[in-house]
Amino acid sequence: MKKEKCTAIVLAAGQGRRMNTKIQKQFLEIQGYPVLYYSLKCFQDSPLISDIILVTGEDVISYCKEQIVDKFGFDKVTKVIAGGKERYDSVYAGLLACSNTEYVFIHDGARPFITGEILERGLAGAKETGACVVGMPSKDTVKLADQEGCVEATPDRSLVWTIQTPQVFEYPLILSAHESIRKKDMYGITDDAMVVEYETNRKIKLVEGSYQNIKITTPEDLAVAEAFLSI
Ligand code: C5P
Repeated sequence: MKKEKCTAIVLAAGQGRRMNTKIQKQFLEIQGYPVLYYSLKCFQDSPLISDIILVTGEDVISYCKEQIVDKFGFDKVTKVIAGGKERYDSVYAGLLACSNTEYVFIHDGARPFITGEILERGLAGAKETGACVVGMPSKDTVKLADQEGCVEATPDRSLVWTIQTPQVFEYPLILSAHESIRKKDMYGITDDAMVVEYETNRKIKLVEGSYQNIKITTPEDLAVAEAFLSI
């Protein structure tokens, strides 16, 4: 069976202001390795992934090349490029840097705990409809708020998922969706599935990530991450 070319775009160009540390959160260490190491290792080790594009801050490109890519032998990383002001700018830079790829896995470098199985489920979903996001059914009841901070509505919890990354897409679909939305107001675009929702009629498949696939955002997340690695 022909193996399709899959590229991982790993995003690490955020400032991580909610972490309140001098070092950006993707470079903080958990059990002796930078946060970013873990997801790059998963993509490096996955037979599904042909190449990896690492998107980071202009000022830390050399640091990433030397202290992460070369140091840990991540030879699937073919490009380390500068991201943009917003997450969607960094994604777009990553999309433009892809060459001859069929599927892209767009992933937050701040989520260290992806696994090979999650990547497999993501690709299988993307092969069904062209677009797939990983997430988990919500454990909590979710409320939608109005402008005054009061409850507007309560969605049926059995239908609520909290969304993670990677998000996996046919490359031409996600590239054209980003190109189309970039001509408009992008306020409030926080993930790539939204871009496909707004710009195309494609169904977006939901598949399970894991409850451990957290995003390292605030200091307590580091403690939780340490705990997961000790299990
Ligand atoms: O800010 P947030 O936690 O939503 O960021 C999610 C991911 O997107 C992080 O891995 C972050 O480094 C990345 N990001 C980026 N470029 C930006 C903003 C965020 O690559 N301008």
